[in-house]
Amino acid sequence: MTENWTADRVRQAFLNFFSERGHTVVPSASLVPQDDPTLLFTNAGMNQFKDVFLGTGTRPYTRAVDTQKCMRVSGKHNDLEEVGRDGTHHTFFEMLGNWSFGDYYKKEAIAWAWELLTGVYGLDKSRLWVTVFEDDQGKLPRDDEAAGYWRSETDIDPSHILYCGREDNFWMMGDTGPCGPDSEIHYDRGPEACSKQGVPGHVCEVNGDCGRFTEYWNLVFIQYNSLPSGELEPLPTPHVDTGLGFERLVAHLQGKAANYDTDLFQPIIQQTQVLAGHTDAEREANLVAYRVIADHIRAVTFLIGDGVMPANDGRGYVLRMVLRRAVRFGRTIGLTQPFIATLADTVIQRMGHVFPELPARVDFIKATILGEEQRFLRTLDQGLSRLQEMIDGARSAGLTTISGDQAFFLHDTLGLPFEVTRDIVLEQGCTVDELGYHAAREAQRARARAAGAFEMEADAHAQVYPVLHDWIRTQRGTWDLAQDPYSSTQRETRVVALLKGDAIVDQAEAGEAVEVVLQDTCFYVESGGQVTDTGRIGGAGWEVHVTDTRRPIEGLVVHIGEVVSGTPRVGDVATAEVDEARRWDIRRNHTATHLLHKALHQVLGSHVQQAGSVVAPDRLRFDFNHSGSITTDQRAEIERIATDAILANYEVSARQESYRDALQQGVTALFTEKYGDVVRVLRVGPAGAPFSQELCGGTHVDRTGEIGGFLILAEYGIGAGIRRIEATTGRGALQAVQTLRARQEQAAALLGSGADDMVDRIARLQDELRAAHCEIDQLTHKLARADFQSALDQVTDVDGVPVLAALVSAPDANTLREMADWFRDKVQNGVVVLGTVVDGKPLLIAAATKQLVTERGIHAGNLVRDLARMVGGGGGGRPDMAQAGGRDPDKLAAALAQVPALLKAMMH
Ligand SMILES: [Zn+2]
Ligand SMILES: [Zn+2]
Repeated sequence: MTENWTADRVRQAFLNFFSERGHTVVPSASLVPQDDPTLLFTNAGMNQFKDVFLGTGTRPYTRAVDTQKCMRVSGKHNDLEEVGRDGTHHTFFEMLGNWSFGDYYKKEAIAWAWELLTGVYGLDKSRLWVTVFEDDQGKLPRDDEAAGYWRSETDIDPSHILYCGREDNFWMMGDTGPCGPDSEIHYDRGPEACSKQGVPGHVCEVNGDCGRFTEYWNLVFIQYNSLPSGELEPLPTPHVDTGLGFERLVAHLQGKAANYDTDLFQPIIQQTQVLAGHTDAEREANLVAYRVIADHIRAVTFLIGDGVMPANDGRGYVLRMVLRRAVRFGRTIGLTQPFIATLADTVIQRMGHVFPELPARVDFIKATILGEEQRFLRTLDQGLSRLQEMIDGARSAGLTTISGDQAFFLHDTLGLPFEVTRDIVLEQGCTVDELGYHAAREAQRARARAAGAFEMEADAHAQVYPVLHDWIRTQRGTWDLAQDPYSSTQRETRVVALLKGDAIVDQAEAGEAVEVVLQDTCFYVESGGQVTDTGRIGGAGWEVHVTDTRRPIEGLVVHIGEVVSGTPRVGDVATAEVDEARRWDIRRNHTATHLLHKALHQVLGSHVQQAGSVVAPDRLRFDFNHSGSITTDQRAEIERIATDAILANYEVSARQESYRDALQQGVTALFTEKYGDVVRVLRVGPAGAPFSQELCGGTHVDRTGEIGGFLILAEYGIGAGIRRIEATTGRGALQAVQTLRARQEQAAALLGSGADDMVDRIARLQDELRAAHCEIDQLTHKLARADFQSALDQVTDVDGVPVLAALVSAPDANTLREMADWFRDKVQNGVVVLGTVVDGKPLLIAAATKQLVTERGIHAGNLVRDLARMVGGGGGGRPDMAQAGGRDPDKLAAALAQVPALLKAMMH
């Protein structure tokens, strides 16, 4: 073991080792799984190769190696509460892996793993143990092949080769699909690492529960396909899929007991210590907080770097929760000002050379963190004190549990994530009703869904596509359908399959709804915000109008539409034709979207990142992060920059480049796209100094001049720190201006003015309107005064005190108060109670002169409270003046009639 094993060296040694053995070094996939709705986060290296194992996708290489960003927030290996309490649990981590796609198999995988661990990293051979598969259900053959290679290809102690059953040594992707036996490599940390020393009957063992043996590396041999019947069908070519926990290996090679003590975490921890102003002893006393912060900062930085935005559900919730949890732990070590972005900087500096998406998005990451942190800090104190009240309240009632509704209230109203509530409650020796919390949250979701719940039906139909996919493959013996929406909008091709509803059919008749699969298609399928093409497919004597196009499975495009004439048949020669005029409108809007993106960067700053986009024929929509509003001048400037780029008539070109090279050249990458190792870079302007360069799979104009004009239609905020711009180009821009002009002329006609002096005319009208309102106010006041004068006749004598209790007409509470003052001016020593109805609700006021308060015990507040109860309301106030509201105007008169009796009871 040597201190020279920096994390960077450990990672690079792995990549180099396999690169030297013919493996392509591929970039880590995004933490947001692409095309896999079943998965919240990428949690293993194989996620991005799932389509290869399933047989629906291919890669230009058969051997790959990478380090994969992974995120796990729940599940048997990662309960959030464990993070920071020991040295090995993380939310975010890296997984090193090497793959063979039908290339090498067990022999090489085993020999290389051994060579790397013992020869390169220098692990002690006598401490390594391996497990191989032996079916505890007795159905599958024992993996003697793997065991044999451990004996023949390595010099491991043969007694260290163990057989284990399905739970430990058989890997499945899901209930069905690719699967196979695996072989795990464990390290014996020695008897001193046993956490159960002295426990009677305890024996340390591999896959035991005492922590002495640690699993380092899992080699998975994918050789079966698990069928729905439970039967295992051998794959024609087996694959290798391995995963090696990076942080654990680094800790080992650096001789550290905890992953947090390595150079992956120490820079963050040291920076935190500087911010907290702690001594080393203080840091050690708060070790858990320091570790949780270090872990969560990494997760936050990488999640936002992959485009996750804080939100109240899904991935956004996990990000929000982890970030807010870090803020709360920061609070426990005295960090009360925003600090997360500062620590994110440390992460980006340390990891940026491995994950170029981080430095490429540094401004965006920090701006998003700061916005979310400030939002949370605004309500954190309130949330914490409300929670403390709840805990105290529960305790004084002899309870130790916070209810699910309480926890949900804190989450929903005060932004305190459930996990933070749970942390605090547990710290104080209480518990929180977790099931109740989820029930409350689910109930709210159900309410939210009730409005528009219609998405279910499509799912049932989706079942047909894997069947169709298999049908095409068996019919043709291969899977080689082509998709190219770029080179032309017309394609000579052939009908490969037809669907009517859920049925795969040979032919369809006029008037029937169909889905058509073509050998080769020029239709664009919605992706990166650009909407799907429409058009027609025609053959000998038949035609299908295509209204929608989808890609339900990677590689499978279905054209959805109706047979308008003739009888299309599977195998027919056909011409596919995209609606050309519509496609041109889409092209203009798509290229304009890139111009807009660039203009936003220039005008608002480099923190601006696309948060969503729609490119349709009639308009484009662009969502982006920016806190604060956009001024009229800024909007005009954005339009001017985009227009200048159009007038410059820049060339627009697309080129295939390596993902890494593209990012290093400063190409803007969006989050919503799936990027392979080779990406399509769309440049606007000269290659040497482009106006804009983005990764993009969309269709574009050839030169910017073809866009015609660019016009922003609307700009507004759509969420915390997210704004939306709607704009249009070409024919749409002309139409928008014509609509505006027509509306302006209409308004001018109504105002009886010309278009040019419309503004003056409106200003004059507003002055007149103000004057009229003023006059109305004065008249209302006069009326109230007259009304009050006549009410004075109703003054009665109650035990020697003049009392006025009357129903009056007053427009608001102010006038009512004014009336009470008029009464006190008129009657030096008396009680007034006035009631009125404003907006259908009763309003009450009571006033008594000071002398009556002190000498006769009159209390206007108590009086009003009693009266308010009679009209279904509440209120109160000072002894000399009080006011209240109610709900029931019909009972106001009856309540006022009770005033003399109430006063009598009150007075002495
Ligand atoms: Zn033990
Ligand atoms: Zn694009």
